[in-house]
Amino acid sequence: MTTAHWEQVKADMKSAIGAGNYKSWIEPLSLKTTTEGVAHLGAPNPFVGDYVGKTYGDQIIYHLNRQGLSVQRLAFEVEGKSPAAQPAPAQSAAPAKSDAQPDQRFTFDTFVVGKPNELAHAAAKRVAEGGPATFNPLFLYGGVGLGKTHLMHAIAHELAEKRPDLNVLYISADQFIYRFISALRDRKIMDFKQHFRSVDVLMVDDIQFLEGKDSTQEEFFHTFNALVDQNKQLVISADRAPGEIRDLSERIKSRLQCGLVVDLHPTDFELRLGILHAKQETYLGVYPGVEVAPGVLEFLAHRISSNVRVLEGALNRLYALASLVGRTVTVEMAQDCLSDILRASDRKLTIEEIQRKVSEHYDIRLSDMLGPKRTRSLARPRQIAMWLCKQLTSRSLPEIGRKFGKRDHTTIMHGVRKIDELRQSDSQIADDLELLRRALED
Ligand code: ADP
Ligand code: MG
Repeated sequence: MTTAHWEQVKADMKSAIGAGNYKSWIEPLSLKTTTEGVAHLGAPNPFVGDYVGKTYGDQIIYHLNRQGLSVQRLAFEVEGKSPAAQPAPAQSAAPAKSDAQPDQRFTFDTFVVGKPNELAHAAAKRVAEGGPATFNPLFLYGGVGLGKTHLMHAIAHELAEKRPDLNVLYISADQFIYRFISALRDRKIMDFKQHFRSVDVLMVDDIQFLEGKDSTQEEFFHTFNALVDQNKQLVISADRAPGEIRDLSERIKSRLQCGLVVDLHPTDFELRLGILHAKQETYLGVYPGVEVAPGVLEFLAHRISSNVRVLEGALNRLYALASLVGRTVTVEMAQDCLSDILRASDRKLTIEEIQRKVSEHYDIRLSDMLGPKRTRSLARPRQIAMWLCKQLTSRSLPEIGRKFGKRDHTTIMHGVRKIDELRQSDSQIADDLELLRRALED
């Protein structure tokens, strides 16, 4: 690691989070060393370290890795004080060591259950009972930040409590690869095999990282089979379904599909709000006296829809700022201090998405919506879709017209006006519009 690398990371962070945030949080940091996947950063005081770890940790790790360093975790040390590393408590979706203790924050108690994750939660709960493996493996998949790692750690916690006799191992696929390669290098492959085959429950996180790693895949496959044959429970996660992981051998794919495959769906508004409420409780002790104005949580749940980690980071940033400056958290403060996150989360709705949603809602074919037929049962939904395109996208009338089967912009204008009228007189239409708008914006 050279100073130049760190300077580059700082520059990347600056363009990512803006000059103001950069000056407060990143500029005061210095990079000490990186060893065994941990980057040691110097911070002027514990508050900065804690805050940076929670708010920007993932981004910093990402940029360090882009500089060719293999970093999984950050540790902050207060400059000029004791050299003992202060691991940032919240920075750790990926533990530094494969056999690391599960993250204390990731338990079933702190996992908020909603429609999008109820199946995954139920399956994880079942595994955590520690009974005979009823489905093997449990394969959890879903986008970044939807709770896969959280659920795996929760399983580990609960098993440690209920079945302390079981040997439970959680490891990220990254670490699995690293350990395998080290074992090959050090000629300790027998130890490696022995280690992984003696566990009772093996959890491997993020196996999409095995993509293209043929020899590691081979080893993984053997470990996998050995454990399944002994009826030992496996829990595997990935960011996509087994069939969609490229370069994963067909043998592994089909074995993965033999168990229970459940996906974590993208969060909905309700779940996000629930998670924010739950988080808020945990902040009471950390940031005493901080008040939050009504509507702030709804604002966040509405605007930050992609990733729970980002959502939590946003709330945490607001609390930290409010406690620092002694103000109430308001929607205006959120807009100001989260502009980078809000900008990144601004989803651009497309005309195609609107057309698809509306045709689904009215149960008509997409081709009919775009086609020439003018029967009322088609014309009305078509006009509703036009109206939504005008309201929810920044496309011009001619652009919208082109996407509606090359219609003229005056046709679009007419459609939009018609719906504007009907909206006043027909409550069914008004309700439909509201419902569709919410579904699309969620
Ligand atoms: P993934 O492994 O799917 O990328 P994580 O499990 O690391 O996601 O979750 C990202 C963050 O979001 C973690 O801090 C986790 O605690 C939180 N999180 C995700 N889903 C939930 C949930 N349903 N309830 C509470 N926290 C959640
Ligand atoms: Mg994860």
